[in-house]
Amino acid sequence: MNEFLKATIYSDTEPNEGQKKAFMDFLTKKYGSGVLLSWEHDDKIKGGFKLFVGAEVYDWTAEGRFAQLKEALAGIKGEGDNIIPLIRDTLNTWIPSAMAEEVGTVITVGDGIAEVSGLQNATYGETLLFSGGIRGMVQDMRDDEIGCILFGDDEEISAGSTVRRTGKTAGVPVGEEFIGRVIDALGTPIDGSGPIAASGYRAVEHPAPGIIDRQPVQKPLDTGILAIDSMFPIGRGQRELIIGDRQTGKTAVAVDTILNQKGKDVICIYVSIGQKASSVAQLVQNLKKRGAMDYTIVINASASDPAPLQYIAPYAGCAHGEYFMERGKDVLIVYDDLSKHAIAYRSLSLLLQRAPGREAYPGDVFYLHSRLLERSAHLSDEKGGGSMTALPIVETQAGDISAYIPTNVISITDGQIFLESDLFFSGQRPAVNVGLSVSRVGGDAQTKAMKKASGAIRLDLAQYREMEVFTQFAGDLDDETRNQLVYGQGLMQMLRQEQYSPYTMSEQVVILVIMLAHVLRAVEPGDIKSVIAKLLQYFKDKRADILEKIEKSGQLGDDDKAEILKTAEKFIEGR
Ligand code: ATP
Ligand code: MG
Repeated sequence: MNEFLKATIYSDTEPNEGQKKAFMDFLTKKYGSGVLLSWEHDDKIKGGFKLFVGAEVYDWTAEGRFAQLKEALAGIKGEGDNIIPLIRDTLNTWIPSAMAEEVGTVITVGDGIAEVSGLQNATYGETLLFSGGIRGMVQDMRDDEIGCILFGDDEEISAGSTVRRTGKTAGVPVGEEFIGRVIDALGTPIDGSGPIAASGYRAVEHPAPGIIDRQPVQKPLDTGILAIDSMFPIGRGQRELIIGDRQTGKTAVAVDTILNQKGKDVICIYVSIGQKASSVAQLVQNLKKRGAMDYTIVINASASDPAPLQYIAPYAGCAHGEYFMERGKDVLIVYDDLSKHAIAYRSLSLLLQRAPGREAYPGDVFYLHSRLLERSAHLSDEKGGGSMTALPIVETQAGDISAYIPTNVISITDGQIFLESDLFFSGQRPAVNVGLSVSRVGGDAQTKAMKKASGAIRLDLAQYREMEVFTQFAGDLDDETRNQLVYGQGLMQMLRQEQYSPYTMSEQVVILVIMLAHVLRAVEPGDIKSVIAKLLQYFKDKRADILEKIEKSGQLGDDDKAEILKTAEKFIEGR
């Protein structure tokens, strides 16, 4: 497949339509369909043109043609009178041939980087082939040499060895065959379950869908986590950042969201960047145990992998996601995490001798993540209506969300879930900071039932937080204040949720309706969590019909609400 074969004509005057068509006919005959032809102005070429196709160059300039023709004529063997018709014959049938593929030389190699000379026509992002079959990608273009990142063991390459152009943009194999597998950034399986026969191939870098090709986010992507779905709903095609210090449950939120997609026809991709191989293995075990590997691809560029692989991993994951999105599927992709990605890119850039900027990151570190996250989208119906929802993860230091990389990614995404160490260690898990978390577009995607049920919960919690600070200094409290405090504490308890136990939408609606109506006001805040668990079981046993109705219709009528409250009162009486 020549999906990425680009052909460029260089000449002084632009070829007319007829000439372009002749080029296309020639190219299609030689390379098959799917060649992209473009024209570039070059006033140094007089009389004729040069045609670049991938790594091949056709020299149709006057000098080039003459040189080749001379060669062709020199090959003629004839005597006396025979020579003239032979020359005429040669001229008539002569087609200029492509020059040999370009070969360059490695100047230096080390730390996953190679400096190469002699490849004048190599393009940015092109795959290069090194000795021993190791692949690399052009990453830095200078006047007489290029910098290249290596996707393999650089010990097999030495200074002076040869490099060949491929003319192909760096890409990865993609397709349905990857679902359920654990692969490295280049698509090689690392789960020991045999080779993968991929059905497609995609460039790792790809332009994001344009405005016309998108439609607003309108379908929910439920995480199953009450603290998120009720207050910071995520829609399909949205980019929601998960941010927090180390060990605050960031990965847990992402994994729970993946688990919650079971049976919802969403393909999940988990990209692990710069983590320990053992923690990824454990995560895969967890997904397997809970049946989530049936619809999930895990891409692992672990901390021990070379920086180029860590750098390329999220783009590779994105390419996998795009493959499904363009086929009308819904995709959820987790980048865990982009802080480590930025660090890998920083080491690459420093090795490529780019100028260090703020915090020693190169100047284009914003673009590093923006071009990745912009590729998430909800495609228009004309484009198949597929979507790719992104959950990038960023690690902060001491809760500082105003550092360089966090502010960058916050400004690129449509909101963030901020997880806080203090909350986490006080037992409030998931440790969502309600004040600092937002979701900018997800509200439109929330189901009507959820919207109605969650009502003023954020406001109530904000009030509680203010009062909590204030009452720390006050001794005696009047009844109303104390009631409000207890109610707030109850809400916080309600938001506590074990790992690997997502709620369905209807369960969340029932919990919210009951809590916000103060039905459980007599219950000690400390007992709220266990009471809620029992309450849900009661509903499942006695009134599964209400849960089912809400789940199916996505609506919450006033009569449903009354039914829920009546059932809850009955449960309380029975206690
Ligand atoms: P890291 O910075 O190391 O990547 P992280 O922020 O991704 O950490 P996790 O690995 O998800 O955090 O979680 C840290 C620990 O907290 C894990 O042992 C996990 O089991 C536990 N944990 C996470 N969420 C919950 C929860 N809701 N309830 C109980 N324990 C939890
Ligand atoms: Mg983690």
